[in-house]
Amino acid sequence: GPGGGDADTIVGVATATAGAVGGVAIVRLSGPNALTIASDVFAVGRGGKGVETWESHRATYGRVTEADGRAIDEAIAIAFIAPRSYTAEDVVELHCHGGAVCVQRTLMRCRELGARTARRGEFTLRAFLNGRLDLAQAEAVHALVSARTTAGADSALAAMRGGLTTPVSEARRTCVDLLAELEARLDFDDEMVPLDVEAIERKASEAREKIREVLQTAKRGALLETGVTVAILGRPNVGKSRLLNALTRSERSIVTSREGTTRDVVEASMNVAGIPVVLLDTAGIRSETDDEVEQIGVERSRAAAAGADVVALVVDASRGWVSEDYDIWKSEIAANERARGAAILVINKTDVADAENATPPADVVDSFSDVVRISAATGDNLVELERALARCITGDVVNTESESWAVNQRQAEALHVALDSLDRLRDTIDADMPLDFWTIDLREAAFALGTVTGEDVTEDVLDTIFERFCIGK
Ligand code: GDP
Ligand code: ZN
Repeated sequence: GPGGGDADTIVGVATATAGAVGGVAIVRLSGPNALTIASDVFAVGRGGKGVETWESHRATYGRVTEADGRAIDEAIAIAFIAPRSYTAEDVVELHCHGGAVCVQRTLMRCRELGARTARRGEFTLRAFLNGRLDLAQAEAVHALVSARTTAGADSALAAMRGGLTTPVSEARRTCVDLLAELEARLDFDDEMVPLDVEAIERKASEAREKIREVLQTAKRGALLETGVTVAILGRPNVGKSRLLNALTRSERSIVTSREGTTRDVVEASMNVAGIPVVLLDTAGIRSETDDEVEQIGVERSRAAAAGADVVALVVDASRGWVSEDYDIWKSEIAANERARGAAILVINKTDVADAENATPPADVVDSFSDVVRISAATGDNLVELERALARCITGDVVNTESESWAVNQRQAEALHVALDSLDRLRDTIDADMPLDFWTIDLREAAFALGTVTGEDVTEDVLDTIFERFCIGK
């Protein structure tokens, strides 16, 4: 398996790659040969000698060199000697110039000297396997790196500090202790005092309570992790594109007065109460169009609306509520169970007309969770629209901007399994089933909790977690 005492030495680029050129790129080595490999590729002073003894946490200026001593790059090397490093192994960072050539040549040299290319997330995996981080903290590293909003980053930082593991670990401890007590009885029943069933039930219910509290953060966690999509719907020319630009303060979407200009779905992102939101500006939905390209755009709009978490139907106050608006409402909102629960009516162009002109009949109004009157042109009431979006997304129950940790979806699933097992334990006890059955439920609960903290975790689970990381992290 990965990690362990005889781990090989790995190398990877720790800074952003994916085509972007930065001023500096960091090539990171970790493992038992990190220091000797670094001494071979990195030379200091005029004589170009390798570093003989590395001092931890100290920057040294020098050159990365080819085998024959020719310079590849000027660089700074920093050694982090085990266990005071990210992975708890010997680590050396080579701070090279950014750009693909310097980095690739440096990587190549490290590989020639026996380092293996690090897999996705392998540095963090080693940090976990070596006990530097628990599993929830390791996952938080990924959440922090991929956070799209300040709220997401704050929550990840709180999780990195380890707050999530404590209650889960305590609940697991309780299960493990109860398990030990029951198993002792199964083996030596005759020699022991009678079982205190009430105490067992009380402890199990304390564990259940702890798990429930942790699970209360799951909705916020899911919102921060995956975000939501909001589809902007409406017939042509009502101001959908202008609204998207106004909300995201960009010119991402083409704004024009020609009908059918937005032929495809345009995406832009924004932040609503700390939740990453993808806005979809859809082609105007018209049922009669001869233009085949436009027809494809209309189909894509329909698909986007069907898949969105929230739908905003835009109407034009200067035109009033017209039958085409009604048709779109009927086919995309009234007929769509998902949209019905999360739809906002946006009456636009209030700078030139009275919003009441476009107010639909009461049964239509009632199908929306909010009606907001705005002007995309002047920006009037956009704040109110953002508030309506936030209400719609969070259901008003979740404080998405709290800076505390939240469980991610994987952790929430495991916690639900644990909760179910403990519920079953209660039924098992109530039904006077034999002790064997109690231990089955407890073992399941303890195992599920262990997959959250990392105390019980299979290689499969580790693979799925660390596969999502970027290379070099
Ligand atoms: P779409 O087809 O729904 O995307 O509509 P556009 O965003 O392309 O806008 C159509 C026309 O309406 C453009 O001329 C916009 O400038 C104009 N428009 C959009 N929003 C407003 C608004 O709030 N007030 C006014 N007066 N004009 C607007
Ligand atoms: Zn448009």
